[in-house]
Amino acid sequence: MSQPGIPASGGAPAGLQAQNGAASASGSLYSNGPVQNALMSSQVSVSEGYNSQLPGSYPHLIPAKTLNPVSGQSNYGGSQTVSPLSNYQGPGQTLYRPPVASNPVTPSLHSAPVPRMPLPTSHNPATTPMPSGSFLPGANVHPPLNWQYNYPSTGSQTNHCPPASSQPTISGNTNLTSHQYVSSGDPSFQNNFIKSGIASNTNNGSMVVHNSYDEIEGGGFLATPQHTNKNPTMSRSVGYSYPSLPPGYQNTGPPSTTGMPPSSLNYSSGPQGFTQTPLGANHLAASMSGLSLHPEGLRVINLLQERNMLPATPLRPPVPNLHEDIQKLNCNPELFRCTLTSIPQTQALLNKAKLPLGLLLHPFKDLVQLPVVTSSTIVRCRSCRTYINPFVSFLDQRRWKCNLCYRVNDVPEEFMYNPLTRVYGEPHRRPEVQNATIEFMAPSEYMLRPPQPPVYLFVFDVSHNAVETGYLNSVCQSLLDNLDLLPGNTRTKIGFITFDSTIHFYSLQEGLSQPQMLIVSDIEDVFIPMPENLLVNLNESKELVQDLLKTLPQMFTKTLETQSALGPALQAAFKLMSPTGGRMSVFQTQLPTLGVGALRPREEPNQRSSAKEIHLTPSTDFYKKLALDCSGQQVAVDLFLLSGQYSDLASLGCISRYSAGSVYYYPSYHHQQNPVQVQKLQKELQRYLTRKIGFEAVMRIRCTKGLSIHTFHGNFFVRSTDLLSLPNVNPDAGYAVQMSVEESLTDTQLVSFQSALLYTSSKGERRIRVHTLCLPVVSTLNEVFLGADVQAISGLLANMAVDRSVTASLSDARDALVNAVIDSLSAYRSLVLSNQQPGLMVPFSLRLFPLFVLALLKQKSFQTGTNARLDERIFAMCQVKNQPLVYLMLTTHPSLYRVDNLSDEGALNVNDRTIPQPPILQLSVEKLSRDGAFLMDAGSVLMLWVGKNCGQNFLSQVLGVQNYALIPQIMTDLPELDTPESARIIAFISWLREQRPFFPILYVIRDESPMKANFLQNMVEDRTESALSYYEFLLHIQQQVNK
Ligand SMILES: [Zn+2]
Repeated sequence: MSQPGIPASGGAPAGLQAQNGAASASGSLYSNGPVQNALMSSQVSVSEGYNSQLPGSYPHLIPAKTLNPVSGQSNYGGSQTVSPLSNYQGPGQTLYRPPVASNPVTPSLHSAPVPRMPLPTSHNPATTPMPSGSFLPGANVHPPLNWQYNYPSTGSQTNHCPPASSQPTISGNTNLTSHQYVSSGDPSFQNNFIKSGIASNTNNGSMVVHNSYDEIEGGGFLATPQHTNKNPTMSRSVGYSYPSLPPGYQNTGPPSTTGMPPSSLNYSSGPQGFTQTPLGANHLAASMSGLSLHPEGLRVINLLQERNMLPATPLRPPVPNLHEDIQKLNCNPELFRCTLTSIPQTQALLNKAKLPLGLLLHPFKDLVQLPVVTSSTIVRCRSCRTYINPFVSFLDQRRWKCNLCYRVNDVPEEFMYNPLTRVYGEPHRRPEVQNATIEFMAPSEYMLRPPQPPVYLFVFDVSHNAVETGYLNSVCQSLLDNLDLLPGNTRTKIGFITFDSTIHFYSLQEGLSQPQMLIVSDIEDVFIPMPENLLVNLNESKELVQDLLKTLPQMFTKTLETQSALGPALQAAFKLMSPTGGRMSVFQTQLPTLGVGALRPREEPNQRSSAKEIHLTPSTDFYKKLALDCSGQQVAVDLFLLSGQYSDLASLGCISRYSAGSVYYYPSYHHQQNPVQVQKLQKELQRYLTRKIGFEAVMRIRCTKGLSIHTFHGNFFVRSTDLLSLPNVNPDAGYAVQMSVEESLTDTQLVSFQSALLYTSSKGERRIRVHTLCLPVVSTLNEVFLGADVQAISGLLANMAVDRSVTASLSDARDALVNAVIDSLSAYRSLVLSNQQPGLMVPFSLRLFPLFVLALLKQKSFQTGTNARLDERIFAMCQVKNQPLVYLMLTTHPSLYRVDNLSDEGALNVNDRTIPQPPILQLSVEKLSRDGAFLMDAGSVLMLWVGKNCGQNFLSQVLGVQNYALIPQIMTDLPELDTPESARIIAFISWLREQRPFFPILYVIRDESPMKANFLQNMVEDRTESALSYYEFLLHIQQQVNK
């Protein structure tokens, strides 16, 4: 398939030939290494001019300084305005994109805040002065600026990427080819950029091929039928011959889940016309009359009278007010949800509601059931590249209308055959049109290069401090235990680097009798000794790898080296991984002190409790720059910080944030003194090492014409316009985006959102996971409020508040959170409620809004008046940004249960296990009693508080002790006793743990335990020295609302 004969026209050094082959040459020339035939054909198509399918012709317009319309290519009047400035990553990664078919560039877009360097606010023309303490810009602000941060990045978060016209100085790393940062779109501009980026770039001056990932996922070049035909060897014969092929539909799930045979996939079977889903106006009208809202949902509540609104069962997301035939096809809210399940028709209406509009995604979540389609034809809209989905409409058997841009598309011949029913002529019953969540096996056009092998590089701190913690034992043992479970195949590669003041490499070449250690002491200019033997095939060198893992913990036990050259070690690791990409797992136990990226302590304990003057911004841009280099080479960096002292996570965390990695934090990790952390690390490593992983991924979120996504939250890099670059994607990561209504939606009753995640599986398959969400459009403020999703709103606000904390200040972020409640409830009171009653009137949908915001204010990220360590606060902020909503909410507002009297009443039955379901209690000490035991589930930690007068039965039958005084000070496990009481609580706790991918530690807390303060700190409704009680908070809100 590959074409080794094609000269590499890019400037990549010879050693990097095989790396990311994003094309930077024209026509059939490629910048880096081997490429695929099919890719060529797709790129040839550029010059053949599939006018209607330009990348960026719809979704990825980004206004910026460089506005060069792509003449004669764009469907939409040359509004292709992509700029490398889009690579700017402010905390919120603010981007704009105009809707399809809008005026080429609207004025507001011209001035979009995509600054290239941090500028004073006033220097950015698009920066709307924002009143302090509000997420909302001032009155009369231009709609798109609503609900977003416009402050340029502060501190050292400089833009990594130069403007088109300047010399790119991509973090001074000459290995890096520039194409990773090239936006798609304007060829002339790209040429310019590439030429200036790499001196040796020999592209021939003709039209430059675009950033290929952009092109592949979002671009428009890869029309399916044309290209599959061009490359018959890659395309499978489909259509009539389909049944003879291997099963086209695989009901795949995670291993050991209950995969069902294809035949049991229950696609709706009733007879359907070609308007297969009732998307017509009449249906919608019907849905309006039969409001899916419970009558309860229409209630107006006076929170001062009825403030105990917390349901006894977990809060469910609201169901969009759609006809049931549509709703039953809709995306699972665990994967994809919107802050407003009824979308306001206009930005003006959204502005009135004062609620944030945005999406929360958990796109790569482990799924028990996931339809997988293998077909050479992936049907997408020719205009906007939306994947066909359940919410398109079929005009007739041969034509379908896109639900995002409304273009009418042809149904390809292959799509006429339904492999599931084996019937020809019912495209509307294909699984693609019956499932809002689906995965495609991507044909070769979706590859830039042969899919990369799974590559895992481990980077270990082996300084004296690190050895003291004893973590190496745990990690190496865990790796040994899970070596065969690492996701991968026969191509899996693995390598190790250790470092203190020097960097140590390990040759694991097959045939060696033992691993060979190579020490590089020049940390100023790190080089890689014998690169070919450092990342080795895991199968071929498994014994050497095992040898190394067994000896590594002992190798440094006598070390006296206290220095830490983390920065140079990361540079070395990056160089080593550049040719392939992959996952880098870094274990660090202290502040880096040597070489590039060295940091200084800057935490001042006296100021911990103050909301001002704390260092939330990175002190150097080294880690961010390196992360962007990593991102460009498809390397993600996961950071495991095990440190008892301040380690400047604000700076270190950037390495993971921008490379789409994850941060794990184990404060005060010690193998003897802190057995709880040891257990936690071990459990989480097991998950980490064995969970699903996607490599060289990109994600794009599209929405119906008229809506616009402008700010992204999560760990990634916005490579070009709204294409999120995810060198790795993992099933435990969440994302959020903010949106605005760019154009009135008066002509439509439904809008859709679609996320598409293109990735390489650990088995080397290119796959695309697509989720599509459909929501109704409403024209009245009351409907907007009725459809509000309070959890999603709180989650999005939390993300926004993290950004605000960094760009402005913590106190500003806190004010903005409070004002979000005040503003929306004031709007509701003044604009929706006709008669002005006293009290704090809220719509049922927002009955928990003040409580959740109060909980956010008391959350570790935003709390004041406590002695929270800076790194712990930063870590909490990382979690806000990177966690799926469900865990974020649990961390913010934990669930409290009484567990000394568990019964089987209302219990769940899961796989023949009986799981008690005690009611959820409000977070107030009023709900506690000394004769009981209460379990608090705070997401990453479970706390079981045992009251002083707790019944003897519980003590002996559950805790296994004879009296209260015998409960150990530190108790993190419940004994498995042969009693029904013990069985019930253990079943309940196990069930809670199974619900999440990380391992919550259980602390048994008696009255004198030091942990009791943590338990009480989560009592959100109670007053503390520095924070209001829930009731006081409600009074405060009421005062402000009724002003
Ligand atoms: Zn479309």
